[in-house]
Amino acid sequence: MNLPLLVSNPRSSYLASKEAIDQATLDFYNNPYYVLGDYVSDFEARFAGYIGVPHAVGVANGTDAITLALMALNIQPGDEIITVSHTAVATVVGIERAGAVPVLVDVDPDSKTIDVTKIPSMITARTKAIIAVHLYGQPADLDTLRSICSENDLFLIEDCAQSHGATYHGQKTGTFGDLATFSFYPTKNLGAIGDGGAVVTSSPELNEKLRMLRQYGWKTPQYSLLSGMNSRLDGLQAAILTVKLAKLDSDIARRQHIASTYTAHLANLPVVTPKTIQNTTHAYHLYVIELESQDTRDQLMSHLKAAHIFAGIHYPFGVHEQPAYDQKLRCSDMTHTNRLTKTILSLPMYPELSDQEVKYVCDYVSSFF
Ligand SMILES: *Cc1c(COP(=O)(O)O)cnc(C)c1O
Repeated sequence: MNLPLLVSNPRSSYLASKEAIDQATLDFYNNPYYVLGDYVSDFEARFAGYIGVPHAVGVANGTDAITLALMALNIQPGDEIITVSHTAVATVVGIERAGAVPVLVDVDPDSKTIDVTKIPSMITARTKAIIAVHLYGQPADLDTLRSICSENDLFLIEDCAQSHGATYHGQKTGTFGDLATFSFYPTKNLGAIGDGGAVVTSSPELNEKLRMLRQYGWKTPQYSLLSGMNSRLDGLQAAILTVKLAKLDSDIARRQHIASTYTAHLANLPVVTPKTIQNTTHAYHLYVIELESQDTRDQLMSHLKAAHIFAGIHYPFGVHEQPAYDQKLRCSDMTHTNRLTKTILSLPMYPELSDQEVKYVCDYVSSFF
């Protein structure tokens, strides 16, 4: 066993493909284009193929991906974008960087994704888009989101930073909105050895615009048609991601297997395990349980720590509770978000965890009770 056990372990992912990654990086040093060369376009084509969309545009990280998606949709200062408070703060940062105003909604207690029943009362004349976060790898209620968006003339963006490979009615997340954004931060289901991200779309116009926006608004070299930024996917990361993409499906299958082992072992304990949501497959970026109180959660966390198991909290604060945002954002009621931040716990979850290590975690969760 490899103690300590962490929530995620990017280094174990490198070691699992060490030879191929080492070779790919050495090959990269000898290619003539270090920025936006063949390695980036080759990865973009493969990633688009994996998701099932015509276009993927490699960008610097998942936060920029959100900003660029909103810029491509012509979002203007003061436009309102509805998303959740129970997410990585990056979702909200990406909205603000585009000059737009985040409006936050609570999550559904079963799926932990946006509570669609709380969206309609938050829509105003200024609302332009909804960003659905497929949190932990669980797809949001995309059918309802699509009808809310079409009835109210809103764009739908999927934040897929945690849901590479998750499906909804058999189709991958990232194919349902006008645009979808991905992060390749090292801990994600598809992780680089550094930062990376992508925006995917089936629209040729949005694809072309995103390619301009990520590089100074250039239509052709040295000729800016749009006000853009510098947010390119690094070539070396693209070379590494191409190696890892080939393993993504088997990695996700392993995550799902680990999740079902956890769920089976924890079934008779006073913990809530992830709910199965009809017509979706969960990609298990994170395996998150709920405890009955904050005290129980914190005590279990310490009990695990004593056994060298470092559980995590995703997330300990809703965005609406954080000092940068608590006074200024319009929010729905946050009943579930406010409870979850105090009672959730993320157990170790990465494909390289051995069966023995998974059992070790289960045994220590059991011994707490
Ligand atoms: C990781 C993450 C992001 C941001 O990705 P970065 O690559 O770290 O900028 C955005 N949204 C969610 C839900 C995330 O988990």
